Amino acid sequence: MILGWHNVESTWRYPARAGRGLGSITRQWRMLRRVTNVVPLDAALVALQEGRRLPARAVALTFDDGYRDNLALAAPVLRRLGLPATFFLVPGFLDRQVDPWWERVAFAFAKATATRREFEGIALNLDSPWSRTASLKEVEPALKARDDAARERAVAELVEVLAPAGRFRCEHLFMDWDEARSLIRPGLSIGSHTMRHAILARETEAYQVADLRESRARLQETLDVPVTSLAYPNGQDGDYDSTTMAAAAAAGYSSAMTTSGLINRSTTEPFAIRRRMVGPTDNVVRVVMGLVAGVQRERGERTRVTAQDRS
Ligand SMILES: [Zn+2]
Repeated sequence: MILGWHNVESTWRYPARAGRGLGSITRQWRMLRRVTNVVPLDAALVALQEGRRLPARAVALTFDDGYRDNLALAAPVLRRLGLPATFFLVPGFLDRQVDPWWERVAFAFAKATATRREFEGIALNLDSPWSRTASLKEVEPALKARDDAARERAVAELVEVLAPAGRFRCEHLFMDWDEARSLIRPGLSIGSHTMRHAILARETEAYQVADLRESRARLQETLDVPVTSLAYPNGQDGDYDSTTMAAAAAAGYSSAMTTSGLINRSTTEPFAIRRRMVGPTDNVVRVVMGLVAGVQRERGERTRVTAQDRS
């Protein structure tokens, strides 16, 4: 089973009480260390694909997007607990050339100076923190549904409509290259999360091929580490397709993570690896129980098939 997190502490998009995330995520990891076998992602996927046996209840830990608190808060705890993890980074964010649009938009909603606005026919009610969050969640699917260039234009328009007090600053929330470099330690590895966090299946084949090659090359060269795995932005069915999977293989990755499904087997398509995204305060016990129940169900089914074969 592969688990994925984003931020540890509060962000504009994922607001939470200060200090709650770190305590809670530390408890999640202590629990995982006790009841599962936390394994390094890349080595475990190679072993799986070669048909070798993984330890029972094998779990790999991953982080997407390159939030700064992955370095400041998560990495020291992971090192203290001796747990390996993989961080999927976005060169455009590290370069400060691209803003993570979901945080920029959430900032604009939180800091909007109006109480009522309209965007693409959607009425935006901004008269309370609750209604701002509700309006943000109403706009988001429409923003996700387009390609990167169209989304960038729409986000710029939306921010103008909301007229926030102040400017979103990527550096408050996301790592730069120096910070990403200082994240790397034995056990903590790097994967690609594309150049600009475009949802790949919305882009042309040429875009996907170029993006996946460039993001891998930039991360490998600048951080001086091997990059063999990719995490698809958004990662749901329809966010990647057969063109994406072929582009990933051609760019030299050996696996790619989705954000759906739970259990990976030796027969799992290596460019559609199943992964469960969790928040720092989610109930991870329930997820692990699902893993154990799923494995037991599979074993039960196999046993039944064997019994039938014999009869
Ligand atoms: Zn992401």
